[in-house]
Amino acid sequence: MKDLVETVVKNNNCVGCGLCSKLYQNCYGMQISEDGYYRPKKFRDNHNSELNEKFKQLCPGMVRREKLKSDNEIGIWGKYEKVCTTYASNEDIRYKASTGGSLTAILVYLLENNIVDGVLQVRTNEKVPYISQYEISKSVEDVINSIGSRYEPTSIFSKLNEVKNFEGMLAIVGKPCDIASFKRYIQKYDLEEKIYCYISFLCGGTPSINATLDILKENNVDKSEITELKYRGEGWPGYFKVKKEEEEVIKISYTESWAQKLSKKVQQSCRICTDGIGEMADIVFGDAWNLNENGKIDFSESDGLNITLVRSKIGKDIIDNAIKKDYIKIDTEHLDENTLNKMQPFQAMHRKQVYYKILGKKLSMKNVPYFPKKLFKNFSKNQSIVKRIKLILSSVKKEIKGV
Ligand SMILES: Cc1cc2nc3c(=O)[nH]c(=O)nc-3n(C[C@H](O)[C@H](O)[C@H](O)COP(=O)(O)OP(=O)(O)OC[C@H]3O[C@@H](n4cnc5c(N)ncnc54)[C@H](O)[C@@H]3O)c2cc1C
Ligand code: SF4
Ligand code: SF4
Repeated sequence: MKDLVETVVKNNNCVGCGLCSKLYQNCYGMQISEDGYYRPKKFRDNHNSELNEKFKQLCPGMVRREKLKSDNEIGIWGKYEKVCTTYASNEDIRYKASTGGSLTAILVYLLENNIVDGVLQVRTNEKVPYISQYEISKSVEDVINSIGSRYEPTSIFSKLNEVKNFEGMLAIVGKPCDIASFKRYIQKYDLEEKIYCYISFLCGGTPSINATLDILKENNVDKSEITELKYRGEGWPGYFKVKKEEEEVIKISYTESWAQKLSKKVQQSCRICTDGIGEMADIVFGDAWNLNENGKIDFSESDGLNITLVRSKIGKDIIDNAIKKDYIKIDTEHLDENTLNKMQPFQAMHRKQVYYKILGKKLSMKNVPYFPKKLFKNFSKNQSIVKRIKLILSSVKKEIKGV
């Protein structure tokens, strides 16, 4: 019998969520692979056809984005109730956060108003500052300690048992693929009464941990000596910063660290991602990048501002009440999609092109996860024939080269 997990990994469709290690108990464990991503490692064969059926429905390497009822009505930004720009009212949160701190401010609102009792979210390991992991935050202090983006692998199902055993209501924060697969699992196993809401962010991909370690090496910094590593924040977009005790030993701009280093080692499964915009979340935050007079992104430092995509009724209630109680402030009441496309050109372009990238991957004889083909073909209808051919050929080339 074909090993489905190994097939997903071999075809570069694994996102490292860790679901398989929980589904097929004692058959797989998650570990960091040589190329620096969380990947399943097989301990023993699994021959359970019932579990295989579940895996086919739940693994993001098998199903990346399901068909939704709303698909006939949506554009490239998916379904939403409202899209605006916001920032945290608390100046300290806004300053420390990746963008405008709205995400953290919303979590503080949910905890302080006893709407949730905990938050499943990513936090830096206290002892090893270049590693991050999922934890359940139970206090505002925990939430504040989890502020900021971590451009490195994390595995959402690592805390599945803690979620199952948690007494009280939870908010879940994760990358779009984390949210989609975790929500599918929660629905399939009737655990919905435990989860109040799902919060995500726009996602350009998960870089290998080797990309971070390369930056340390290039700067002659010994990873065992560092006491702090921040990818961004403390301003917007802020700097990639590393400290040894109190001494700052690395400070690199966001454009240099993300565009020139981290994004070059994003996992292959992100290249064909059909949901970097968090369609399954209740609220999605992103960077509302400033635009210059030519309509291009201006990355110079300024006060952080979030794009806030409110996708559900529960998301709208959270945002409206958090504004009323002054946890977050609105900057622009409504963003039109034209402005969204300019603030997030990568996401907009990717949604319009991913259909042909996936086609290229299929032509190179690789499996691809399920996605609604008609919808994405429609998103790409304005690409010229030349562009379509280029996208397909470039995708075939990348698959053959394994990058
Ligand atoms: C892998 C990755 C890719 C990203 N790609 C884009 C992009 O293409 N476009 C864009 O506009 N923004 C991107 N972001 C950044 C994201 O936009 C900001 O985190 C978002 O704007 C929220 O800002 P904030 O100030 O409100 O968040 P903060 O208040 O700083 O909160 C950040 C939250 O994200 C959680 N988190 C951090 N790292 C991870 C992780 N690796 N996995 C899961 N959860 C995590 C933290 O636990 C925290 O709750 C990305 C972030 C990550 C981690
Ligand atoms: S995507 Fe998740 S469930 Fe699928 S093989 Fe990778 S770690 Fe396992
Ligand atoms: S780009 Fe897509 S697949 Fe990659 S980490 Fe982000 S949401 Fe997941």
